[in-house]
Amino acid sequence: MAQHDKKAIVIGAGMAGILAGIKLKEAGFAEVAIYEKADRIGGTWRENTYPGLTCDVPSHHYTYTFERNPDWTRHLSPGAEIQAYFEHVVKKYDLEELLHFNQQATSAEFIDGRWQLTFSDGHTDSADILIAATGVLHKPRFPDIEGLGSFQGDCFHSARWDHSVSVEGKRIGVIGNGSTGVQIISALAGTAAKIEHYVRHPQWIMPVENGHFSAAERASFQDPEVLHEAMQFEIYNSGVERYTMAIVDMESEGAREMGDICRNNLEQSVSDPELRERLRPDHAPLCYRLIFSPDYYQAIQHPNAALVTEGIERIEANGIRTRDGELHELDIIVLATGFHPDTFMRPMSFKGRNGANLDTLWADGPRAHLAVTLPEFPNFFMLNGPNGPVGNFSLIDIAEHQWSYIAQFIDKLVTGEADEISPSISAMQRFETEREAAAKETVWFKGGCNSWYLDHRGIPASWPWTYSRFVQEMSAPVWQDFECVKRSA
Ligand code: NAP
Repeated sequence: MAQHDKKAIVIGAGMAGILAGIKLKEAGFAEVAIYEKADRIGGTWRENTYPGLTCDVPSHHYTYTFERNPDWTRHLSPGAEIQAYFEHVVKKYDLEELLHFNQQATSAEFIDGRWQLTFSDGHTDSADILIAATGVLHKPRFPDIEGLGSFQGDCFHSARWDHSVSVEGKRIGVIGNGSTGVQIISALAGTAAKIEHYVRHPQWIMPVENGHFSAAERASFQDPEVLHEAMQFEIYNSGVERYTMAIVDMESEGAREMGDICRNNLEQSVSDPELRERLRPDHAPLCYRLIFSPDYYQAIQHPNAALVTEGIERIEANGIRTRDGELHELDIIVLATGFHPDTFMRPMSFKGRNGANLDTLWADGPRAHLAVTLPEFPNFFMLNGPNGPVGNFSLIDIAEHQWSYIAQFIDKLVTGEADEISPSISAMQRFETEREAAAKETVWFKGGCNSWYLDHRGIPASWPWTYSRFVQEMSAPVWQDFECVKRSA
């Protein structure tokens, strides 16, 4: 697209912020600034470095569509390779000059047709268009366990892994059994002197292979056509659709099939009947985000590993005291206890037009029209924003679809067809009412578990429809839902 004099600011330099930077440059913006609170790019893949960190989306599908990577070493990529991939993308697309590190946005306000921002160091900047690419799961959730601060050993959250602490030969307790806790147990079972997994609610485990790509395979993938063929789009896309259908309808064929695979995995992988029962979830498969693991059941049966389902009474100087009175002596406690999923770009003061304030708009929880735009916050767009699709599929793909939608607003703004675009309040309310009703039909709501998908009212805060509906919604804005203001010259 031709150059124009508009400026855009992106908050966040993770996967979605990098995408936005590339696309804004392509769209001819005279100036693009990407502000990042940390000292390097990467988002999730920068923050999480725990042993065993692996993406459960097939490697070749976990890339931008315009920048495939023939060099992945494994079917499911280790976190460090993903971080390296994003660093490569930043270099290749010349984004370094757009990046501003150690700059946390503290306020944003729409004044006289422009977004005015302030950062933690007092620096200010302004732009015509503002993009929030701040990620979903970035604020660690620390458990409310008595005595947490009294532990004399090493204790850290999974997203703040302390690599100065050696795990070899140590007695380790891992609290939490989402994908993170499961991956850590699998990685450390053979290394630790003892590893205990503290589990309140066992989860269903989907078996998955995670082999290496051979040198010959990687060489062949240098040919884009060979790689395209190997990616088996038809199978992958129908799998994503089937998965989202299984969320929407827990009686669907796909839900039954996935449930059966998980049940068989438990039956066939765990030989001790007593351990098997302690590992058996009491909720419907897919109620939590499904855990894919090639080796958790093997790891928890390792002679050095133990499953602890007795509740935690408190943490003491030397370890964890369970409710049966036993003290489990430990050197390291890992808190794989998840994240606060409702933070998004907060904490920051966010003010739109006509006195609109994000704190008021989100008083009852984060919401947005189709997860992307906010009424009275003109020319502001979110990638992976509230109530968008989050599940066992690529969030890069989700962000790219959102970008193709956002690009259509940006097009109107840069061509001067409109100066301010935002959805009407009624459009967002209608969307939210429909979304909440649909969310109450999903397995997240009906499946009998209390996952991080549920908001403070117990309503799933996620996209409650199929992937194909999301793609269709993102294909073009419904313009009558938007207020397009043209200021007089
Ligand atoms: P999570 O799924 O939210 O799991 C947190 C775990 O901590 C749960 O097992 C929870 O138990 C437990 N917990 C929380 N507070 C506790 C307390 N006070 N006492 C005992 N246990 C407590 O967090 P996560 O594993 O970090 O994963 C976050 C999201 O990222 C998940 O959706 C996960 O699937 C995803 N993820 C994806 C990948 C990938 O490969 N793409 C990798 C890692 C994570 P209860 O269930 O009993 O509350």
